[in-house]
Amino acid sequence: MLSLFGHSARRTVRCLHCASPFVVPSSASTLTCPICYERVRVDDVVITGRENHHKIETCGVVVVRKFAHVHADVLSSGTGILVEGEVQARVARTPSLVLGPAAVWTGDVEAQSLSIDPTSTIKGGKFQIKSKPKGKPKPSAKVN
Ligand SMILES: [Zn+2]
Repeated sequence: MLSLFGHSARRTVRCLHCASPFVVPSSASTLTCPICYERVRVDDVVITGRENHHKIETCGVVVVRKFAHVHADVLSSGTGILVEGEVQARVARTPSLVLGPAAVWTGDVEAQSLSIDPTSTIKGGKFQIKSKPKGKPKPSAKVN
């Protein structure tokens, strides 16, 4: 789990559109998925203050730091969402949601895995936790 949030020169993210993992340079912020060719955001989104967004969508990680507060209609991460502060979302989609110590969560969640610290709070939301991404057959990674 922690390796999800680690940093090095290159890192692996998971495409929001086709759910395929691919390696990107750490400095990349937007690029084209090598599997489905969708243009996608790949940088990590780190929220440290009080922010309102219509959509936060990235193939990278979304981190909501301690004492930060984010309000978003759609919160979408291809890799994982780590919450140490407070989140109010209409819907969040991610393979991995981690609610850390003292995290506060409100909103619907569609995830494949969920980790909840005993000191975190869930104020509301509909949780759908499915162990595998739905649908599509695994696309071939071969590129000519
Ligand atoms: Zn893709």
